[in-house]
Amino acid sequence: MAEVSSETGYVPHHKKKIAFILSAMRHFARELMSDGWQVEYVRLDDLENTGSLSSEIERAVKRHLFKSVIVTEPGEWRVLNSLTSLASRGGFSVKILDDDRFICSRDAFTAWAKGRKQMRQEHFYREMRRKTGLLIDGEKPVGGKWNLDAENRKPAKIERFFPEPLRCDPDTITKDVLALVEERFSDHFGTLDPFRFAVTRDGAEAVFDRFVDIALPRFGDYQDAMLMNEKYLYHAVVSLYLNIGLLDPLDLCRRVERAYHDGHAPLNAAEGFIRQIIGWREYVRGIYWFQGPKYVNQNVFEHARPLPDFFWTGNTEMACVRACVEQTREEAYAHHIQRLMVTGNFAMLAGVDPRVVHEWYLAVYADAFEWVEMPNTLGMSQFADGGLLASKPYAASGNYINRMSDYCTKCSYKVRDKSGPKACPFNYLYWDFLARNRHVLGNNPRLAQAYRTWDRLDDERQRDTRKEAQHFLHELDKSTIGSKA
Ligand SMILES: Cc1cc2nc3c(=O)[nH]c(=O)nc-3n(C[C@H](O)[C@H](O)[C@H](O)COP(=O)(O)OP(=O)(O)OC[C@H]3O[C@@H](n4cnc5c(N)ncnc54)[C@H](O)[C@@H]3O)c2cc1C
Ligand code: SF4
Repeated sequence: MAEVSSETGYVPHHKKKIAFILSAMRHFARELMSDGWQVEYVRLDDLENTGSLSSEIERAVKRHLFKSVIVTEPGEWRVLNSLTSLASRGGFSVKILDDDRFICSRDAFTAWAKGRKQMRQEHFYREMRRKTGLLIDGEKPVGGKWNLDAENRKPAKIERFFPEPLRCDPDTITKDVLALVEERFSDHFGTLDPFRFAVTRDGAEAVFDRFVDIALPRFGDYQDAMLMNEKYLYHAVVSLYLNIGLLDPLDLCRRVERAYHDGHAPLNAAEGFIRQIIGWREYVRGIYWFQGPKYVNQNVFEHARPLPDFFWTGNTEMACVRACVEQTREEAYAHHIQRLMVTGNFAMLAGVDPRVVHEWYLAVYADAFEWVEMPNTLGMSQFADGGLLASKPYAASGNYINRMSDYCTKCSYKVRDKSGPKACPFNYLYWDFLARNRHVLGNNPRLAQAYRTWDRLDDERQRDTRKEAQHFLHELDKSTIGSKA
């Protein structure tokens, strides 16, 4: 096992993300050793550390005169390519095994996807339900419907009780890692203290147990809600543990299914959770590998704007964006709708280059690895692939954010104003986005109503709306360029 600088530095990862991964690695190495395995562990600050996975493998091979190396397939093209080029250099063989922590292997996804005109997630999801038998009664979905998404959209009320996820105190291993990260990565995004993530399998299991006990029953109702001072609402906060292998996805789904059968959680909660895992999580991974390394270049709208500085500083008058960035800086966590409908929505409406948006998401979340982050960012949130993943862009005006959150009550912009100095920027940016991308989106049946509404506005109103958008974007560019000068 090797901690290498090529992995800690290819994007400016959040400090908490680096500390989480290094501490989990060190704990895992210790567990393996106490189970009798021989482990060679190279620390980030070891003097001989050569700084990349492939060079560390080569060093270990030379030291021990190994004839073959067996690894689990990695989660990014970048690492897979470095392993395959290592294999082609000769001297020893490299065998890459399937990652059996996923329910659908890469080959199984390819078999499903090949020859399809559309690779809709809903179709994939139903197949995964049949394959796993989760919430299946005979041949049919339990309750009669495959998907209860429509029952996952209640706005939350501030006065509800919101359980915090279980917090774990750092032990000596974690404290050592925290000191290392503070020293070597002080210029990276994010705050390190307080660090409360679990770093072992037992710890992650305890976090999930608490979620099932306390939050799961309301997970379904409030999945899409956002509140200024409630960072987690009823979300599980387990993606980071799943993605580094501390939790097993199928096992979590079975426990949630059991909670439904035991009468502890309603169907919209259990189905909603299971859909996120065997539907979305497995599906986006399949898409990542199926699309190949060039997927990152997708940019159907030809967006080219640099990332506004406030994605790093939170320094913006838009209360929704500020809240999501500040929370991200503190927690290395934001839930799905914050990522999709606030920061992602803003970046797309403003025409930010999807590649830099992708690099931001990859850096700032503790759960971010390319196989899951890239399709979510480029495909779902930026629609950069032109609709491979989503049937329409997740674009919304301030009205959506106002309906689903309390952000607008704390904002210096006015969500109901469509124009004027106090108008919510999401309002005019939304129309400007649709108007400037009509050549791409104009025939999308799911946007027909929106275009009809736009077409009903007289020329002057349309011109003024677009002028306000241009003015806002011009000021945005000035401040971004100004901050780089
Ligand atoms: C722009 C953008 C970037 C994202 N980047 C990542 C990322 O880097 N890593 C990551 O794990 N998720 C990513 N997601 C998906 C999702 O936002 C997170 O998985 C979720 O917020 C994690 O929080 P949670 O554990 O509390 O999830 P919950 O809401 O409690 O959901 C339970 C589990 O379902 C899975 N899940 C839910 N939605 C998705 C999804 N769309 N894709 C894959 N798995 C999903 C996660 O494993 C999650 O832990 C991204 C979404 C968007 C819109
Ligand atoms: S008014 Fe607009 S910018 Fe302000 S919080 Fe609401 S949606 Fe965000």
